[in-house]
Amino acid sequence: MRISLLSLISFTIALASYVHAHPDHSSSLNEARSYADALSARDILDALSTRDLIDELSGRLERRAFVCSVCRNTFPSASALQEHVRREHAH
Ligand SMILES: [Zn+2]
Repeated sequence: MRISLLSLISFTIALASYVHAHPDHSSSLNEARSYADALSARDILDALSTRDLIDELSGRLERRAFVCSVCRNTFPSASALQEHVRREHAH
């Protein structure tokens, strides 16, 4: 099951905001509703495996990590970036 990381984070923040914004609701109906919300969030997190999260995060970090300061191209490694700078911008 694939869920975009952004929508998962948005959902988690929305849920956290809801819980934070309604700390004093003590009726059993609201407690049950909050419990159901928390349960569905947990279901979503369960469906998204740790492996998926690590793959997504490491992929994004790698794509973001090595950016040419001249032309803003991105590279998967420091050596690839150095090679690019040497070839394209070393005049
Ligand atoms: Zn460049």
